[in-house]
Amino acid sequence: MKKLITLSKDTSIKVSSRITSYLEPDYVYLPILSTDYENFRKQKIKKGANLFSFRGKTVYSPVSGAIVGIKRLQEQDYLVIQNDFREEDQYIGVSNQTTVILKDNFAARIQKYADIHWELFQGKNELILNGIEDEPYIANKTFIHKYQTSEIFQMLDLLADYFHIAKVTICLKENDRESIEAIEEYLGTYPNFCLKILPDYYPLGNEEILKRYIHLTELCVVVSTEMISDMYLNVIRERKKDRILITVTGDAIKNPQVVEVKIGTPLVDIKGLFQFKEKEYCIFLNGLMKPTLCDGEENLILTEEIRAIYFMKKKQVEASECIRCGKCVEICPMKCNPYYSFKTKGKYNNEKCLHCGLCTFICPSFIPLATYLGEEKNE
Ligand code: SF4
Ligand code: SF4
Repeated sequence: MKKLITLSKDTSIKVSSRITSYLEPDYVYLPILSTDYENFRKQKIKKGANLFSFRGKTVYSPVSGAIVGIKRLQEQDYLVIQNDFREEDQYIGVSNQTTVILKDNFAARIQKYADIHWELFQGKNELILNGIEDEPYIANKTFIHKYQTSEIFQMLDLLADYFHIAKVTICLKENDRESIEAIEEYLGTYPNFCLKILPDYYPLGNEEILKRYIHLTELCVVVSTEMISDMYLNVIRERKKDRILITVTGDAIKNPQVVEVKIGTPLVDIKGLFQFKEKEYCIFLNGLMKPTLCDGEENLILTEEIRAIYFMKKKQVEASECIRCGKCVEICPMKCNPYYSFKTKGKYNNEKCLHCGLCTFICPSFIPLATYLGEEKNE
């Protein structure tokens, strides 16, 4: 496969090694498709209550409280829940169970967890945990490795046991020292687990690239750290996710950090946690390699789709003429032709494109090449 690259990083936007919690919003906002307000009016609900399905996913309340209305923000309707801060939970059951009990009724529990295609695990001989972030500066996985180490090992072990998978390999990057230390502490008690430390290359966190880089066969199944953490919560603890981790960073703030928030918290609620160096900034979502510009921070709601928020100094970067250097073609790990896509003004779509943003990053003329590549089939 093509040689991957090490990105030069701005150390000033590295996040703090401590997590900040913001778990008591006055209101949470959950995106909905239906505007059948009558179904929801003034209802009292508990945390974990099943509210509705949205984009194939069931939405549960992250707080207990009362439904007080529907609010439209940037062409999206949100169900508004006023938090009563009681954290009354829908769940009644036993949350601490031993591995022996769990092994006995694991089959029954996993049938209820619909987010995973179980056939992916059948007949496999190696389970790979992809613990590598696929964007520079995002540190969410590191915090899961640090604070949920036992849960991650327990879930992987139960999966390997249930599906008769002989080996579990945890992949981490060499510069993610905090994850390596946390994982190494537990390795000794799980003889079929091993740690694979990989170089700090981009985009190694992408599952497709990782598979090629470490030459995975059809007999391997790859899972992400978030997927295992979520599975543990649902299958083992039988609870619904009520919070998310978000990396908040960028060169316009002084104190980048990972924040733990209730799902549906508005961005404006957590802005007070940050000291700003600049009055004017741009907000990008989920990464700098394939950034999504956010316009209207006052309307931004923190949902599971948001993994990172970057407050960046405003910079004027003007795209200039293509100088036909060929760097974009050379760097593409998927052998797409970003230059051709640009020249044909997006008429050529390449479904192989990972949207990793390397072609845009490398282009000396600052042409936003990745935006020209669609996901449809080639024409
Ligand atoms: S990297 Fe930029 S300047 Fe070079 S060939 Fe590609 S589009 Fe043209
Ligand atoms: S964004 Fe797509 S075309 Fe550009 S380098 Fe990545 S995979 Fe290749």
